[in-house]
This record gives sequence, C-alpha cells and structure tokens, in this order.
Amino acid sequence: MSTQSLGEQTVDLLACLVRLGCVNDLTADSGGEERAADLLEEFFEGLPVSIERITPHPGRTTLVVTVEGTQVADGLQGRGHGSDQGHGTGALTLIGHTDVVPVDEERWTHPPFGAVTQDGVMWGRGTVDMLHLTAAMAVVTREVARRAQEGAPPARSLVFVAAADEEARGGLGVPWIGEHRPDAFPWEAALSEMGGAHIRGRRGGDSVVVVVGEKGAAQRRLHIRGDAGHGSVPLGRTSAVERLAQVSAALSSARWPTATDEVWASFVRAFEFDETTETSLIDGTYDGDYSEFADLAAFAHAISHVTVAQTVARSGGPINVMPSHATLELDIRTLPGVDDDDVDAAIVAALGNLSEHVTIERLLSEPATASSIDTGLYRAIEAALSRRYPGARVVPVLMPGGTDLRVARRRGGIGYGFGAYDSGASLGDVYAQLHAHDEHIALADVRATAEVLHEVVTEYLTHS
Ligand SMILES: [Zn+2]
Repeated sequence: MSTQSLGEQTVDLLACLVRLGCVNDLTADSGGEERAADLLEEFFEGLPVSIERITPHPGRTTLVVTVEGTQVADGLQGRGHGSDQGHGTGALTLIGHTDVVPVDEERWTHPPFGAVTQDGVMWGRGTVDMLHLTAAMAVVTREVARRAQEGAPPARSLVFVAAADEEARGGLGVPWIGEHRPDAFPWEAALSEMGGAHIRGRRGGDSVVVVVGEKGAAQRRLHIRGDAGHGSVPLGRTSAVERLAQVSAALSSARWPTATDEVWASFVRAFEFDETTETSLIDGTYDGDYSEFADLAAFAHAISHVTVAQTVARSGGPINVMPSHATLELDIRTLPGVDDDDVDAAIVAALGNLSEHVTIERLLSEPATASSIDTGLYRAIEAALSRRYPGARVVPVLMPGGTDLRVARRRGGIGYGFGAYDSGASLGDVYAQLHAHDEHIALADVRATAEVLHEVVTEYLTHS
C-alpha cells in the first residue's frame, strides 16, 4: 500500500476524480457517477470494508463504504439484554458527492477536466465543489480501514458515501436514498461540504467557518384577482395585471423575518465591525445595505433573512381584455424555525389590504435544517481547526443553499459542512469559485483538508 502522506494521496485521487468529469447537467442520463464508484471501489481493494453500490438509474451509482467499529459488535451482543434498540451506534458518515456542474469550456484558461497543476494550484471542475473533500474522505476512510487491518479497528463505525446527483438536488442521490433506502447507511452524524473558509475581521482577527445548517424553501404561487372588463372602458376597474404590480411592489418593500440567533450573531462578530453596526445587525434593527460585508453582502443578507425573490409572473391574453386573474411565483427561502404558516402570515402582513384579492398556493416546501453546536462531533471539528489555525475563532454558519446534509438532519441526525484552507481562502473567495469558470484549489488546501479531516475522524471514532 502507498507510503505517500494522506495529503499526497488526496491530491492524486482528486486529479483522477477531476479527469473523470462526472458532469451533471440535471438530466437523468448525465453524471455517469458509476465511473467514480468504480474508481473508488478499487481504491479500497483488499481492505476490511463492506461496499454497497446503489444505482437508482443506469450510471447514477452512489458507493457506500463501511469500516465497521468494535462498538457495533458490542452493541449487537448487548441487544439481547435490551441495552441497544438498534440505533445510536455512534457511526460517523462522510458524504462526498462525485458529480460536478457543466463547464463553458471557452471561458476556461486551463482544460476543465485536465487537473492541470501549476505553481501549487490544481485547476479543474469540481476541485472546490467538492471533489477535494470527497477525495480526502476516501483517503481518510482508507487509512482507518488500513489501521483496522493492522488490528486497530475504530470503536465507532466509519461510513464513506460517494454520492451521485448532488448538483441536481439529489433526485438520484442522497435524498433518493433517504426516501427509498434509508437503511443504506447511518444518518446520525454526518460531514459534508462547504466549511473551512476564513473570515478576516476588521481588526485582523481570523475566523474559520463550520456550516451547521442551511435554509429551507417555501415556494409560493399567488393567485391575484382583478376586475374583468373590456379594455376600452377601464374606469373603476383594476385589472389583475395592475393588481399584480401593486402586490409586487408591496412584497418588495416589506420587511421579512430576520435571524437574531446565536449562529447569526457569531457570524457578525467574526467581521469585527464597530459596536453600533454589530449590535444592530445582531438584534435585527440594522437598516443598511449590507455593504459592510463586501463580497459577502448578498450572502450575509440571505443567511439572516427569510428572502423572497419574485421570479415568475403570468397574466393576460388578448390586448383588449382586462384579465381577472394573474399569478406571481415567489422563491422564498426560510430560516430555521420558520414554518409554512409563518411564511403565509408574513405574506398576508406584507400585502395588507391587498390580501383580500390574493390566494396563496403552496408549492415546494422544505424546512430549513440546523444542527446544534453542543455535540461531540462539532467539538471535534472545533478542536482540530483550532489546532490547525491557532488564535482563530471557529464560527458556526448557516448556508443559503442546500447540500446533502439536509437529508441527514431531517432524518434526525446532525450534519456539518467541513473543510480546511491553509491558504487562508476567505468565505467570499470560496463562494466565488462555486460553479465558476477556472475553478481551482491550492494544493496546500487539499492537504489541509485531508489532514484536519483525519484528526476529526480519528478523534470522533475513538470515543465510545
Ligand atoms: Zn457541492
């Protein structure tokens, strides 16, 4: 077996995964993640792991690799005495997706699937999102399996999930498994993507983020009633188009629920603003444009608000007919603790008197999810990042978008977005790389991810 360091193994595996180019264009026949599953299955050859392939659609394979912990065996023995009901075995699940988003090849200065490495940087689609972490998960899991083979198995089980179809919100990946094969792997404690970036405070303080939750979705279609009539005699009538414009304006100027919780507060503190600004942001009285957050302005606004984007409007037919019906669709993203009734109440409040002309239809609804920071896994992450970046604060954050972790959280588990950036890459830098042209990562960050992940996993697995 390889004598390379974990970091070098991860760099090599990352290059292989980039070159596979498992591009997910949102169609069922794209992705081809079975190629990544093949590669990763071979990666564990000869080691004491159990492997399962889950393929909901041809080519869309998710690979599940389990290194069994000794605690599992104890738990099974204990079952006869009623000491274990088959849950809470303490397993850790690493969820890494193997698909990537499409590229606009002409806009790239390096071949997007070449994994070209130059001056300590690897270029390629998926290097940041999230193949470097998927590779690190595979390497760390292989290391744990190798230790088990040498007679030192972990106390807790470790499961590595190389997941398909994350970029299409997982219709053939982790959410599919959660719905159709929920016993395929444990959900109680999971790590996945998008943590580890830095926030540099105004006074120079360094913070490193751990993602603890993500916003939910509460899509709505508003049915707006107007007065029908002939376009030649409009006096005294308000067409549905005109009323839609009034509704739209009312929604635009409304204030929507804001976060005032400790996760938001610790994010704000990381920026080290002056006291007045900091206090107003934390207590929800801030009235500015978020420009203090620079390249994270939209991000900061999103993670602290129920956001309402007006995205689709429909009404009207013949030009000489005043329509009586219009629809306006809203892409609403919710905060933890905000449910469908809260959203509808906020819409009604925003509309005021207009609400008598509006019926709210609920479309897709997915609650926001967030995990407590008072857990052994969070503490293990916090400790490892603090060792790596002395003096840095470890800051829990919410993400505006979704990852596979929402499935684990919804199934009652805890889930954190992990990462480690020795380059000091800021949260803004990392966000700017997502789905962007010329996606690239510093090799130092690839190595850091593998090394810090190994510390977290080792620490967590040895505690029983
Ligand atoms: Zn991703």
